[in-house]
Amino acid sequence: MSQTATTDPQPEASSAPRRRPALSPSRASDFKQCPLLYRFRAVDRLPEVPTKAQVRGTLVHSVLEKLFALPTAERLPERAKELLAPSWTEMSADRPEWTALFDDDEQGEVENWLGSAAKLVDNYFELEDPRRLEPEACEQHIELELDSGVLLRGYVDRIDVAPTGEIRVVDYKTGAAPRQIGEAKAMFQMKFYAVVLWRLRGVVPRQLKLMYLTDGQALTYAPDEAELRRFERTLEAIWQAILRAGKTGDFRPNQSKLCGWCDHQARCPEFGGTPPDYPGWPEPDPGEESPLDRAD
Ligand code: SF4
Repeated sequence: MSQTATTDPQPEASSAPRRRPALSPSRASDFKQCPLLYRFRAVDRLPEVPTKAQVRGTLVHSVLEKLFALPTAERLPERAKELLAPSWTEMSADRPEWTALFDDDEQGEVENWLGSAAKLVDNYFELEDPRRLEPEACEQHIELELDSGVLLRGYVDRIDVAPTGEIRVVDYKTGAAPRQIGEAKAMFQMKFYAVVLWRLRGVVPRQLKLMYLTDGQALTYAPDEAELRRFERTLEAIWQAILRAGKTGDFRPNQSKLCGWCDHQARCPEFGGTPPDYPGWPEPDPGEESPLDRAD
């Protein structure tokens, strides 16, 4: 089993060697939810306009990452909130299109939005005291090739390792969607990370922890090895199904209540639309996740 773990979350430059197609938790969830949605996102790579809530999630993730880079004694709520405005300045310089989400004419819109991000940061501090933690890694890129050849790839918000060697996988949730809708998807994502870390390190993570910053609640789960073994087979089956659909272009729509969050209804047969011609299986990598995927 080949094993790599890197810390570089930046997209590769176009001159970089092409990476093999991989399965990420976001794209695997897309395929499970609706194969056509997977196609639109991973194969056609149709642009999607992020919501302000999604961009706010990316901002808060960035601030929490920076918080853990500060000396322990400085990891306080006010200091964390001071990081919001400069982080937004950096992010909007990298992605100027995100500034178009805000109406120039509406006075104080950005300030109000930053205020809503500060509330999420406050909620984070209700859940834990970061001065008592020393994470092994934040925004960690993980990648693993299973024996079956399936390449798994993702980014973990935070990995905590106790002196005893026990691993905790932490994910911050900042999304606006109701928790009930996102919870199964979130646990799927956490088990995906757990499989990769288990196979990379030979240790089953002791705890998977989801921190919901909109309502200041946490959900924890302790996976066991038999479960992760079964989940690994599920991931292999999803990848085989993706490859079968990829050969023929037969990605079927699967209408559900989640269609309300889909950007592509206008191209979806379930809503009277017509998908674009199938462009063929993409190169180099339909498994890539965007910062917005990682901050849902
Ligand atoms: S609208 Fe619903 S069925 Fe159509 S592509 Fe989007 S998620 Fe799939």
